[in-house]
Amino acid sequence: MMLGTPSSLGGSDPELLVGILATTALAGFGVWAFLKRMVREPVSPDPWNRIIAAEIETEAATPLCHRCLTAHGAATDFCPSCGAAVGQYTNWLPYPYLFSLGHGLRIGTSGEFRRSPFTVFG
Ligand SMILES: [Zn+2]
Repeated sequence: MMLGTPSSLGGSDPELLVGILATTALAGFGVWAFLKRMVREPVSPDPWNRIIAAEIETEAATPLCHRCLTAHGAATDFCPSCGAAVGQYTNWLPYPYLFSLGHGLRIGTSGEFRRSPFTVFG
């Protein structure tokens, strides 16, 4: 029999009891956080609210270039200001896709893009 160890002092080990309680509390918190996340409504990928989302879907909305924010027509394939492909199906059409690809390559070779470790490594 070893003297001085917690198990030799009494019937239950207090460190084991604290460990079981802590593990149970962490598991309970994990289950609660998981259930809270599952009950929450889905997060919209759009950063704006429903009013602006409804206004974007109207016919009177003016499309903007994703690169330079210049207004362009709904049937325009390329931005009149910067040349970026802005048409809804421009990159799916075989011939205009070549111009879109060329625009991307020109941006990459001119160095006019935001530098980050991901873009530099890529
Ligand atoms: Zn543009």
